[in-house]
Amino acid sequence: MAEAAFRQGYTALGFSCHAHTSYESFTMSPDATEKYKADIHRLKAEYAGKMDILLGIEQDIFSDLPTVDYEYVIGSTHSLLIDGAYHAVDAPSITETVKTEFGGDWYALTQAYFMLHSTIIDVTSCDIVGHFDVVRRFNADDRYFDTANPRYRSAAIDALTETLKKCRVFEVNTGGMYKGGLEEQYPQTWLLRELLERGGEVILASDSHDIVSLGYKFADMEGLLRSVGFDHRLTLTPDGFAAVKL
Ligand SMILES: [Zn+2]
Repeated sequence: MAEAAFRQGYTALGFSCHAHTSYESFTMSPDATEKYKADIHRLKAEYAGKMDILLGIEQDIFSDLPTVDYEYVIGSTHSLLIDGAYHAVDAPSITETVKTEFGGDWYALTQAYFMLHSTIIDVTSCDIVGHFDVVRRFNADDRYFDTANPRYRSAAIDALTETLKKCRVFEVNTGGMYKGGLEEQYPQTWLLRELLERGGEVILASDSHDIVSLGYKFADMEGLLRSVGFDHRLTLTPDGFAAVKL
């Protein structure tokens, strides 16, 4: 991954593996977490003077390991916790969850997601808000719920407003476009407008799990951000965030 990024001219590359959770098999085990940190430190040394390697973590709202060893933290919500059971919002099982837990009401489910995600800063103390509307992951072409529905939008706006009180940096994430055939990035363009109006900042992320998706659609995203009215985006450096003119 680092070699591919370096060849493509990247000056910095951040790694943010999924933090350990007790209930999801794809997340890093505590042992794997230690190995991950060691691996990234080794890469840092290897690329010193050529490309900045940053050690980050994607901290799930239900992660149970601390975030102290990382240079940046992305805070993400992947599941709802209902009556002691976890229900993923970014898995196909969401179509079952809506039936069993929400009586088939997609807007009740999305509202529950946004309410939970609006607490992400308090829970994870993250630097960057991860895939803000990931609840759309399996909603390509609005097949299950209408993202223009006032119930959906007001829940999203409430969460956005609440989140912005504590963290201003939101990820513009193309992972769902690459993996899930979504026509829009996270957050959707109408949400980016709301974000800009409220003084939010954006940083690009491709949520890459492979080399091919590295920087996926970043040029398109920069054009989109310009059209929305952003005059800069943020990037991460070893000294923290820096602005990049759009
Ligand atoms: Zn995620």
